[in-house]
Amino acid sequence: RFAYVNGRYARHADAAIHIEDRGYQFADGVYEVCEVRGGRLIDERLHMDRLERSLGELRIAMPMSRAALGAVLRETVRRNLVRDGMVYLQVSRGVSPRNHLFPSADTLPAVVVTAKSVARASGDKRAEAGVAVISVPDNRWERVDIKTVSLLPNVLAKQKAKEAGAYEAWFVDKDGNVTEGSSTNAWIVTADGALVTRPATVGILKGITRTVVFELAARSGLRIEERAFSLDEAKAAREAFITAATTVVMPVVRIDDQAIGNGTPGSIATSLREHFHEFAEEAAAW
Ligand code: PLP
Repeated sequence: RFAYVNGRYARHADAAIHIEDRGYQFADGVYEVCEVRGGRLIDERLHMDRLERSLGELRIAMPMSRAALGAVLRETVRRNLVRDGMVYLQVSRGVSPRNHLFPSADTLPAVVVTAKSVARASGDKRAEAGVAVISVPDNRWERVDIKTVSLLPNVLAKQKAKEAGAYEAWFVDKDGNVTEGSSTNAWIVTADGALVTRPATVGILKGITRTVVFELAARSGLRIEERAFSLDEAKAAREAFITAATTVVMPVVRIDDQAIGNGTPGSIATSLREHFHEFAEEAAAW
């Protein structure tokens, strides 16, 4: 395997960053995870848009043009022989003697890109059974709309989920509303078949998969209510599911100790997952 590190393709096992990289010392950096299908990047433009926004919010310069970055992503995918899987991109504020203040303006952002294969079948198998989630208090900072590598609350939440026999943790804000998962967006389906997900204005990362599901839902004639929903409403919902580039649309069958619907994957989540697969196949084909 190979990784791109600051202008070079290194063997994955040997790839390294400097000990004074600000991403390492301060979590002063951002990332993107993009799905790969048939060797092609899915939703590249949306990922680049979000990357530029995240960098802008942190006042880190784009390390190279979008076109050049796209070429690096594709080359990393190619060198790793990835047909189906994902590509990971991280940009930090660069290497500089440790100091909270921004480094001098001539400090170059540091760029790392890795890619790995993920068999589609493993996700599909998980989706057939559906997954369990637990709820945890949302103890993150307010700027979770920026895709920073500062993910400690998310790490702790995901680990807690795993230890509770669940796949994901849903963060719940102090008003009792679900914000999102530790690495996914959260959705429910109401009794009359409307999709509900929290507005992307505050409290969540605006997922690319979330944006695509909006389109797929519209095509299927499904109504979307973009509003806050409580943990109690979620537990009483007809269906629940999560979305992310890595999990696509994943049905949720249990929240804490409460079975959702009849405790099996809901029909709307299942059909959205199929539609997403079709959409990705089409995107990979041209
Ligand atoms: N929310 C959080 C906190 C995430 O980390 C992610 C993805 O990693 C998402 C939502 C889903 O975003 P996307 O659909 O772009 O993968």
